[in-house]
Amino acid sequence: MKETEPSYLDLFSSSILKERVSLFEEIIKKCTLCPKSCGINRFESKEGDCRSGYLPIVSSCGPHFGEEPPLVGYRGSGTIFFTNCNLSCIFCQNYDISHLGYGKEISFEELAGMMIHLQQIGCHNINFVTPSHMVYAILKALLIAVPRGLRIPLVYNSGGYDALKTIELLDGIFDIYMPDYKYAEENVGRELSGARRYPIVAKTAIGEMYRQVGDLTLDNRGVAYRGLLVRHLVLPHNLAGTDEVIDFIAGLSKNTYLNLMDQYRPCYRAKEKPELVRRITLKEYDEMVALARRRGLKRV
Ligand code: SF4
Repeated sequence: MKETEPSYLDLFSSSILKERVSLFEEIIKKCTLCPKSCGINRFESKEGDCRSGYLPIVSSCGPHFGEEPPLVGYRGSGTIFFTNCNLSCIFCQNYDISHLGYGKEISFEELAGMMIHLQQIGCHNINFVTPSHMVYAILKALLIAVPRGLRIPLVYNSGGYDALKTIELLDGIFDIYMPDYKYAEENVGRELSGARRYPIVAKTAIGEMYRQVGDLTLDNRGVAYRGLLVRHLVLPHNLAGTDEVIDFIAGLSKNTYLNLMDQYRPCYRAKEKPELVRRITLKEYDEMVALARRRGLKRV
């Protein structure tokens, strides 16, 4: 197998992929797929925090040119945007999809068809946005898509609130992980995203992702085929604890590809928190970029 070929092909031929699907289907009978650990039976109920049952719900599918350059390349990142989310961020910029349920329930065959379509139109990868509550659906669709010729890398594009056990079971499925690391403080994660223990959960998950795929690796065209990218949205008044986030990322590897995002704008219920009613200033952003460089991060 070539270095640039996705590792899920190996798991498919050795039947490990099938076994992982069975393991995940056991987990969702009393769902602990993510750290919310709702304990509901996803085959029968949509009453968990992510309001999702068994079948995938997708809001959009298509090439995306606004993602990080190593994912976009020159033909786009093939984005499949799942509806609903295991986080409830009060400033969510996609709240119609993540909180109001905009999207359509589809079959696993249709999900596989979307993956094949994105490959056929030339996308460099399949980029699953908000996948944490739907990982088993991705694996089930993969069982259908691989025999139909799927060969491009899969990207796990999550909010970082991922259970360690789930990420361990994804070893060899995703070649590229792109989690957020949103907050350094526990109480901020609870207040802004309804997530208990967000920092430790995210750090543990990101550590395991890094163990599996290492630093981001690009092919000779500059397109990513394996590795970790971390995203962090800088919030006003350093509410996100960006300095501590940078310290963690620098401790992981100085070669970590870190996207420090400056596009925060008040959305959804942001006005409930007075500190969130404005955008960030240039000074707030520049200070954090400078700090990341001082900490030795080379790919900010
Ligand atoms: S995936 Fe959904 S139902 Fe399962 S534990 Fe997480 S929030 Fe709850």
